[in-house]
Amino acid sequence: MLLVKGIKLPAGEDESKLQQLLEKKLKHPVRSYGIHKKSLDARKEPFYVYSLLVDIENEERYLKYKDIESYVKEDFSLLKRKIDETCIIAGYGPSGIFAAYRLAEAGYKVLVFEKGKRIREREEDVERFFRHGILDESSNVQFGEGGAGTFSDAKLTTRIKDPFIGYILDVFVKHGADPKIRYENHAHIGTDEVRRIIEKITDDLTEKGVEFHFAEAMKQIVLDEERKVTAIKTDQGEYHCDHLLLGIGHSAYETIMMLKEKGVQIEKKDMAVGFRVEHPQKLIDERQTKGQIESANEYFLRYKGEKGVYSFCMCPGGIVIPAMSDKETIVTNGMSYAARDSGIANSAILIQIPKEEFEDGYDYLHQIESDAYHYSSSYRALSQNISDFMKGELNELIFSSTYPLKTVLYDFNQFFCEKDLKIIKEALCDFDRKIPGFIEKGIMVGPETRSSSPVRITRDSSYQSINTKKLYPMGEGAGYGGGIMSCALDGIRIANAIILNHEEI
Ligand SMILES: Cc1cc2nc3c(=O)[nH]c(=O)nc-3n(C[C@H](O)[C@H](O)[C@H](O)COP(=O)(O)OP(=O)(O)OC[C@H]3O[C@@H](n4cnc5c(N)ncnc54)[C@H](O)[C@@H]3O)c2cc1C
Repeated sequence: MLLVKGIKLPAGEDESKLQQLLEKKLKHPVRSYGIHKKSLDARKEPFYVYSLLVDIENEERYLKYKDIESYVKEDFSLLKRKIDETCIIAGYGPSGIFAAYRLAEAGYKVLVFEKGKRIREREEDVERFFRHGILDESSNVQFGEGGAGTFSDAKLTTRIKDPFIGYILDVFVKHGADPKIRYENHAHIGTDEVRRIIEKITDDLTEKGVEFHFAEAMKQIVLDEERKVTAIKTDQGEYHCDHLLLGIGHSAYETIMMLKEKGVQIEKKDMAVGFRVEHPQKLIDERQTKGQIESANEYFLRYKGEKGVYSFCMCPGGIVIPAMSDKETIVTNGMSYAARDSGIANSAILIQIPKEEFEDGYDYLHQIESDAYHYSSSYRALSQNISDFMKGELNELIFSSTYPLKTVLYDFNQFFCEKDLKIIKEALCDFDRKIPGFIEKGIMVGPETRSSSPVRITRDSSYQSINTKKLYPMGEGAGYGGGIMSCALDGIRIANAIILNHEEI
């Protein structure tokens, strides 16, 4: 198989033209081809650049050309045998899902404990909250089958380069995702589709012998005299384990407290807080691709002032959602359906909060979330026109937020300390230069507090907790990931370490 890079197609042209372009470049008919990578270049007249996988006669003769190389797909298959060791996975978000997948493939006995419910029931609980403001603290946007990424845009972007990215995408495609996610530069699945895909992965894992305990949270860990984990306790029983993988996400405050009480080493880490901004999607499309591409476009903005301010988890054609897991708090986040057709773009705008600025990160965040609730006297989010924020005024919103539980007007000038306020305003001016209209045509909704964990459960080079053996912290809550792909990769990293260690014994 050959990998042929640099095939360019103007935006809007039919992809069936690729074969013609390819054969022109190779000066020979191809037997078959597939897309390996596709990215947009919108600096001038927008066009797509493709890397294509090509099956052609006498492929060696093309290897001397620039942009053409030989391609062999990496093989991640494992020799499956029965391994007489039990792995317990607490938390079934991306890190837990992919750790379970890999360990089950290797032949371990795997038990998954997930605090929240299966997706269908979870959907009902989330729907009830979005419609009527009735929050279930164990089944919500943060907790349940699939973890926090289930009610999201399911963007699959990451800056990490890792061969297992292909493995993760293959698992998604095998369970129903559009094969395009393998090659699109800013691939996303959409909340509607990712829910069905996760259900299928769970069913597949059940067939592979994984035992699932939904709506059963880990409440305690059991340690022997050498501080080795030997079991966990839930409210339904005690379960022995040889390895405990912790993929509990960044909202598992109770579990973090329990681990601290057990003496597990946990350190503070930097985090970020802010708000969501919403704009007409047309404004973003106009700017990003001069309106020539219909699909909902993304942006990524970064301002380097005294502190970093950046856009995060941008959801084109999406909605802002209530993402709290505790009663009487407000937390915003964003999600999109696969079609990304709400007509409104939203994104978090966050400012870095270094760990020196707080004692306890969870208390710091909780205070912001509950102050917002008490200001609003309800689950209505806080909101303001960006232009009013810049001037310190409070007027009716220029358009209604997509946040389903409605909003109340609030002056975000009160939200930040003076120093951060100055940096945020500088950043918004910078963003307005990059996307003209960013200030005048946008609204802000918040607060956004759950973009990353305020703690790290310190682990050693074997990926075990530094002072508690056989405890493997992973994913976002443990401070080793942020986003679906990076957390899924971390789950695989842990599983591979367990598998490799077993093989060496
Ligand atoms: C609304 C929203 C939209 C997002 N959009 C995107 C996006 O488009 N793209 C992207 O890359 N990232 C997105 N993210 C971030 C991404 O979802 C997370 O980074 C990722 O899910 C973290 O994975 P994780 O495995 O570490 O933990 P989580 O996904 O948070 O899962 C942790 C799980 O552990 C369970 N749990 C907690 N405590 C216990 C316990 N004691 N016992 C048993 N189970 C427990 C929880 O119920 C939860 O299901 C979004 C997040 C949110 C909230």
